[in-house]
Amino acid sequence: MKTAEDVRAIIDVLARQHPGADTELRYATPFELLVATILSAQSTDAGVNRVTPALFAAYPDAGALATAPLEEVERLVHATGFYRQKARALVGMSAALVERHGGEVPRTMEALVRLPGVGRKTANVVLGHALGVPGFPVDRHVLRVSARLGMATSDDPERVEQQLTGALPPALWTLASDTLILHGRRICKSEPLCRQCAAAAMCDYRRRPARPAPARAARKPARTKASRAKAPATRRRS
Ligand code: SF4
Repeated sequence: MKTAEDVRAIIDVLARQHPGADTELRYATPFELLVATILSAQSTDAGVNRVTPALFAAYPDAGALATAPLEEVERLVHATGFYRQKARALVGMSAALVERHGGEVPRTMEALVRLPGVGRKTANVVLGHALGVPGFPVDRHVLRVSARLGMATSDDPERVEQQLTGALPPALWTLASDTLILHGRRICKSEPLCRQCAAAAMCDYRRRPARPAPARAARKPARTKASRAKAPATRRRS
């Protein structure tokens, strides 16, 4: 596994390749980002950004969304997929915010992950982007890119979060996560574009020896002029 120094160097190089990396979800308050992040499960950020303006206009805060009719929320978030579960999570999460936190989004991981529909990744997104508390969201892009680069050795998001946050200063966590997410979306896709990758020289995946080509079926040797001359002549039947 890479040293902390190597991880830092890789993040520096990738941050230069993807300047200004940030979440692509649109939000104005921590509550809006919490809602948008819950909606982003199994959906694209662009898809979420298409539905949130109407949702936030109708239900601008936790108090309003906590008492919203479920069918109405389902209708508004329908296009993001899994709309029934998401609508239930949004209304339940808002009710818990009102009940436990006076309608405000709490600033700790422990309190956030106790809210309905909020996992560690969602909590880290909100902490790091909207609350100024260092957070390192680990999504499928972070898992894939950090494993290929040799910066993490697990496919468990929480373990990868520990390995990467252990190697980087807290002030860099959110930027590093955003950078790895963008790199995974643009360059280190499932079919990686290694020739365009600024970190290629430091990548374990790139340096892996190529797999041997599959053996070909034995082919008949081509007949040469000499071999044709040696071959016994076949007689024509009369
Ligand atoms: S060199 Fe290829 S596999 Fe490695 S991080 Fe870059 S794009 Fe991904």
